[in-house]
Amino acid sequence: MNKLPTYCFILILMVACQPKAKEKFDLLIINASVIDVAGGKVLPGKLIGINKDTIQLVANMASADRYASDQIIDAKEKFVMPGLWDNHVHFRGGDSLTDENKNLLPLFIAHGVTTIRDMGGDISQSVLQWRNKIREGQLAGPNIFTSGPKLDGADPFWAGSIAIGKLEDIPPALEVLEGLKVDFVKIYASSLSPELYYRIIEACEKRGLKVTGHIPLSADHFEAVEFGLDGVEHLFSFLSLASPIGDSLRQLNLGFGMFPQVLETYDEDLAKDAIAKLSSEDFYVTPTLYVSQVIMQLADMDPTVDSLLPLIGPGIQKTYERRLKQAQNRSPEGKQLMLDMDIRERSLVLPMFQAGITILAGSDCGPSNSYVYPGAALHSELALLVETGLTPQQALSTSVISGPKFFGLDKYYGGIEVGKMAHLIVLTRNPLEDIENIGSINMVVKGENIYDKSKLMSLKASRKTQ
Ligand SMILES: [Zn+2]
Repeated sequence: MNKLPTYCFILILMVACQPKAKEKFDLLIINASVIDVAGGKVLPGKLIGINKDTIQLVANMASADRYASDQIIDAKEKFVMPGLWDNHVHFRGGDSLTDENKNLLPLFIAHGVTTIRDMGGDISQSVLQWRNKIREGQLAGPNIFTSGPKLDGADPFWAGSIAIGKLEDIPPALEVLEGLKVDFVKIYASSLSPELYYRIIEACEKRGLKVTGHIPLSADHFEAVEFGLDGVEHLFSFLSLASPIGDSLRQLNLGFGMFPQVLETYDEDLAKDAIAKLSSEDFYVTPTLYVSQVIMQLADMDPTVDSLLPLIGPGIQKTYERRLKQAQNRSPEGKQLMLDMDIRERSLVLPMFQAGITILAGSDCGPSNSYVYPGAALHSELALLVETGLTPQQALSTSVISGPKFFGLDKYYGGIEVGKMAHLIVLTRNPLEDIENIGSINMVVKGENIYDKSKLMSLKASRKTQ
């Protein structure tokens, strides 16, 4: 056996006695009270080590002297939680509004929204470019998941949609979407027959594409889910499930004309039965309560007092006129119907949540949806979810946990944990105590981009000059 020379032992001894080198991170956040959204707890006295866009360490402050960084954020008396997800937004209004749409991106960040699910419009190529540039760090904005163009019937309601008038239109439509590398499929069902609608869902399922959207008012929810529908946007289509004559009303193909009778015959027990039947964690419902509230109140609103209105480009403000005119021309009966529908819709949220359906927080902000401002509208949506009976913790989970779950990305988002994305917001007040505290944003960290209070302010200010 070879003997090691004595100087080797001395060397080993010297190395062993050296003070251990500190582990270095690109960014250290110290003294943080971490909000564990899944557990509904505050974990005080934490330090978070970040390299590039990933959380590499979450430890107690007692071990702080083992770590170092050239960039340290002291989050003393502040709360750190995952960045928000707005799971229903739009970019649209035609190519002439591309830049104005792009200017909305910083508004999301300014409100702590670090990821958005774009539900389709008519400037898909631009949105896809932004998506890729943001992922590569070449453009500041929230991470984007997009449906690309919506699918609709032969006579689409929204510009930019792909029309599906017959069975043969389905494969090429889905090939276009696959070619664009969209993240999921959105169906808008203004002129789709139930039969064609089911076939689209079936085809998406076969190709492994996630599919959500509206349900034709004459279609059957349960059948759609059986064919593979992953989610439903808005709550109005559920109302007829709570009517004993819902089936026959749907078959009459009355469209929105069915709702007076649906509400007259509305039965809460039937609503519960339907929810139980749809109950699955793999089924996603995006209530979009805030946009409904704004649309109801449009005629009586004074948007000139909105601090965010000056940040919206003039072209986008012009797109607000359609809904505004609709609201001004609405009859008293029409107004009452909307109010009654809204009450019933809101009453569905808590039972759905309790039944295990995955609720997604989404604002429906974007052009055409008047005065529903990017970023701020998601805060309002969270507050309304709490009004329906969810706790602040549950409401937050519909944004930061359910959003990634829809895409099977729970591993990378939804918590302040090792291996997850460093998309964080720093708050001065605890949102688990009061959901309004989500507005107390002090800092946003999105990977290597750090937005302190003054940078967040300038994200808003810079819009004013355009
Ligand atoms: Zn929408």
